[in-house]
Amino acid sequence: MSVFKNISLADEEREFGTIDKWICSECAENTHWEQIVADNLEERNCDYCPESNKSASVNVLTGKILAEIKLKYMPCQETNVSPYPCGINVFDTHEVLSKLGYDMMEIPCGRDIIESIQGYNDIWAIKSLSV
Ligand SMILES: [Zn+2]
Repeated sequence: MSVFKNISLADEEREFGTIDKWICSECAENTHWEQIVADNLEERNCDYCPESNKSASVNVLTGKILAEIKLKYMPCQETNVSPYPCGINVFDTHEVLSKLGYDMMEIPCGRDIIESIQGYNDIWAIKSLSV
């Protein structure tokens, strides 16, 4: 069942994937992520609580965020935008996530998602400036 969901993931959602962690519906309850987790459950134990043996890969969540980041930002080193000063046209991952309205502390895997994104890229330039 769930194997097919992995195969159908967009490239965006597969191009990192260094963090092999899983999160269950209980842990994602009442968060922005509740539905995404519910839609991607597989027969895996949750890494954030001892309660559940059905969980979604944290990489799926990271992929969704990364795809959203890339609508507005791109890795600074792929642009001609100067990385300095940080905070005007260029932002680190924490700043980008808060600008997009994410509260990563609302879900137990938030820190892992941030680390995964930072592993992919940490300094982001506003896309419209870099054409
Ligand atoms: Zn859990």
